[in-house]
Amino acid sequence: MTNIDFFSDFHMHSTYSDGTGTIKEMARSAIEKGLTTIAITDHMPLPFKTRYAMNMDRLRDYRKEICKVQQQVGPKLTILAGLEIEFIPEIADWIKDIAAMDWDILITSVHSLSVDNSHYMVNGNEKEFNKTLDAFKGDIQSLCRKYYQTIQQAAATHLFDIAGHLDVIKKHNGANRYFDETSDWYQLLVEETLDGLKHHQIKMEINLAGLNHPANATYPSDWIIASAIKQGIPIVLGSDSHQPETLGQYFDRALAYL
Ligand SMILES: [Zn+2]
Ligand SMILES: [Zn+2]
Repeated sequence: MTNIDFFSDFHMHSTYSDGTGTIKEMARSAIEKGLTTIAITDHMPLPFKTRYAMNMDRLRDYRKEICKVQQQVGPKLTILAGLEIEFIPEIADWIKDIAAMDWDILITSVHSLSVDNSHYMVNGNEKEFNKTLDAFKGDIQSLCRKYYQTIQQAAATHLFDIAGHLDVIKKHNGANRYFDETSDWYQLLVEETLDGLKHHQIKMEINLAGLNHPANATYPSDWIIASAIKQGIPIVLGSDSHQPETLGQYFDRALAYL
């Protein structure tokens, strides 16, 4: 049985990126909920405009504020300074510079894929996903392949601690609208990706936010969690909260499943 810490939430966003709660409010909520460790993992700054990323000029204040709140709350809660790094191979140097700024924890996630120098969202709304699929000429297999290969590339950089919402590509895949998770080609991509996490010693997150999304499932799916556990890949939990109230949300379900 793997050792999973149900009192630590490793993935959340504050007002420094697209969350609605301040770092102080997130910390207060964590204490109320009986958590012992949280990682503040706001979206890293990006060299192009998005609706969610932190502004580069706020990065220093962000670090300082996490430290300040840690001092205020004292030893009853450990607050890790982190970021959710959006892995885009085309901006590898940008990422490297930000990752080098001495963080406690870095999540790597793939939110978009670039095709002909344009970025297409994989975890946006349905319309955005359809646009992404169009960029791949409607070929869902090649879209999934590029998605999972990008995660494998991220793992190989050795910059990151945790792979975030591993199969978020299924966000709009209710009733197998786009692909069948039980098909061989898909399972092979996932297994290859898990091999990469194992090889490069990256933890895998069980991201509970998917239970609030159209997917209505954890990221990743149960069979992927089972396979990761079998391979001995360390597992952490992340609520991916964008407001203080949802810290630790659905951790009881993860516990029941495991
Ligand atoms: Zn994310
Ligand atoms: Zn997130």
